[in-house]
Amino acid sequence: MKRIAIDMDDVLAKTTHVIIDRINQLVDKNYTYQELLFGDKTLKEEFYGHYLTNNSFLWEPGFFENIPVNEDAVEVVRKLSDQYEIFIVSAATEFPNSLKEKLTWMEQHFPFITWKHIVFCGHKHMIQADYLIDDHEKNLHTFTGTPLLFTAPHNLHINDFKRVNNWKEVEGLLLK
Ligand SMILES: [Mg+2]
Repeated sequence: MKRIAIDMDDVLAKTTHVIIDRINQLVDKNYTYQELLFGDKTLKEEFYGHYLTNNSFLWEPGFFENIPVNEDAVEVVRKLSDQYEIFIVSAATEFPNSLKEKLTWMEQHFPFITWKHIVFCGHKHMIQADYLIDDHEKNLHTFTGTPLLFTAPHNLHINDFKRVNNWKEVEGLLLK
């Protein structure tokens, strides 16, 4: 059985959507996800400038508990788990509070994936799998299997990997 490693933030979970909400509250703006995907460069740079100076909420208790699950993620991961060995791999140890919150989140949204198949780490370069679905190029560059770049506003400029824009595209690619 082939193995798929799947990232959490901005792959299973709509983390950037929540980050945008928090930044909007903190700097009194109205940035939207669509704007960050398709808007002009100046607007994106402005947003990420605000993000870099106002992101301490990522370390606050509770942040990772209430993030919405991505569209079709539950359904497609459930189907994938019939044909592949699934591991959820999250570089979570940078955010100590997130460990328990992410386990709770997985139990809530993906109860068919148990703690035995959830890996919390710092770097991901030791992860061995056939596929890695991730939104960060730093994780995909060192991966020895087939990397799949899951589209997020911060990775639109990356062209080094096969891209998947949503979970339906993952389904089309990996499920026959
Ligand atoms: Mg991620």
